[in-house]
Amino acid sequence: MSFPKALVLAIAVTSYSNECKRMIKIKLHNTLTRKKQTFVPLDENNVRLYLCGPTVYDRAHLGNARNVIMFDVLYRLLIEIYGIDSITYVRNFTDIDDKINNKSLESGRPIDAITSETIKWYLEDMAALGNLEPNLMPRATDYIPQMISYIELLIKRGFAYPAEGHVLFSVSNYKNYGRLSGRSIEDMIAGARVEVASYKRNPMDFVLWKPSEKDLPGWDSPWGRGRPGWHIECSAMAHDLLGATFDIHGGGNDLQFPHHENEIAQSCCAYPESEFARYWLHNEMLQVDGKKMSKSLGNFFTVRDLLDQGYPGEVIRFVFLSTHYSKPMDWTYSKALEAKNILRKWRGLLKNNFEIVPVPEEVIKILTDDLNTAGVISLLHNYASNGEIGKLKAGANFLGILTEELSGWCADVDMSSLEGLFTDLRKRAIESKNFENIDELRSKLTNAGVDVQIGKSNVALVPNASFDLQEVNKIVNFYGLN
Ligand code: AMP
Ligand code: ZN
Repeated sequence: MSFPKALVLAIAVTSYSNECKRMIKIKLHNTLTRKKQTFVPLDENNVRLYLCGPTVYDRAHLGNARNVIMFDVLYRLLIEIYGIDSITYVRNFTDIDDKINNKSLESGRPIDAITSETIKWYLEDMAALGNLEPNLMPRATDYIPQMISYIELLIKRGFAYPAEGHVLFSVSNYKNYGRLSGRSIEDMIAGARVEVASYKRNPMDFVLWKPSEKDLPGWDSPWGRGRPGWHIECSAMAHDLLGATFDIHGGGNDLQFPHHENEIAQSCCAYPESEFARYWLHNEMLQVDGKKMSKSLGNFFTVRDLLDQGYPGEVIRFVFLSTHYSKPMDWTYSKALEAKNILRKWRGLLKNNFEIVPVPEEVIKILTDDLNTAGVISLLHNYASNGEIGKLKAGANFLGILTEELSGWCADVDMSSLEGLFTDLRKRAIESKNFENIDELRSKLTNAGVDVQIGKSNVALVPNASFDLQEVNKIVNFYGLN
């Protein structure tokens, strides 16, 4: 028996009642307090999240997807507990940056063409990994007036000073500077290896506003034509969209210092009565041979590269979910292959008749322990081996896998008849030394997005990222296999 998707979605909620759901407590490791804490929202009817988003000058690399998936799981969990209308999830696009300017200068393309194209790619790639879109995705260029007012407020309050066309944040005036990253100002000064610019009163002071030369993007301001520094963007957008104090802020742990430290400094000095973000969530890095994957080290591949090589979004998502966000992890092809086999097996189980059940409470319980996605994956393994298919589906769907949307790579198609035909034609071709028929079949399969994997004793036909079920059905009809 199969159910229409809308019906499945309607049933696939937990068995908790709405009032009971709000009693569920999530524990999160808060970087600010360095403790696992029970999450208590400021307002249960308006839970507010902010994730630092990408700088849009190029395709996202695989590491960039890690905290998007982490926050996506958090978002789904919060929706389950507080209801979809009670969550505001903001993720920004940094569309002012010297990397973008350089790309424009090198390529001769206008900045807006580069950023718009990159944003479109980013949204496609993140959707291919099964992520829901945040409620709001502000672009920095749309918030320049708010940033200017913010900087003016900081100057008025004595936490910032203009100098030589720049405006600097005065770090020594903020006594809690270093609280998030656990550094003292003295250590930070000792660690700063950069040459100190003449306009800085203190080597640690950071830029809120800087002058723009004629050929660079710039906006009129009280300090002349210029552009904002990076950190002020997030403080201004978070304030505008979420208020002076909000619930959860996240990003990679590479952003803890200086970016997040500076966001806190700006926000707490501009609005002294506020707390800015109350819980900070930081993911560990995706690594390659023990080193952070990054554009600057050149040891990266993009999400799109992987998708195009035939690693489906669902497989990539599964690999990420299998490791807790707070642990460093490596992407390996053997992990991807294993994930692919597990998902294929699980999707095979879903073809049996099974009872549709709500999301098991134990799935929710495990996730409330600091988003223990790996724990849920091992529970799903138990469901699969115990034949509890309804629970497997409901639990997996909660993590955003085994969904209809991500099913394309593993479409409901039985390749065995085509595999038999291929084996047969191949044998005959080798015997007769006439490869015309087998080549024809192979090119049809390639065209339909099917990889041919020839083993010692068998042939496996494996759908890749460009798999097209209609084309496969055409082949099946052509050879009269149905
Ligand atoms: P960027 O565009 O470099 O500012 O990075 C966008 C987001 O990706 C930030 O939240 C970074 O912390 C995160 N990020 C960058 N590299 C990695 C990595 N290798 N592993 C996990 N997260 C990363
Ligand atoms: Zn930020």
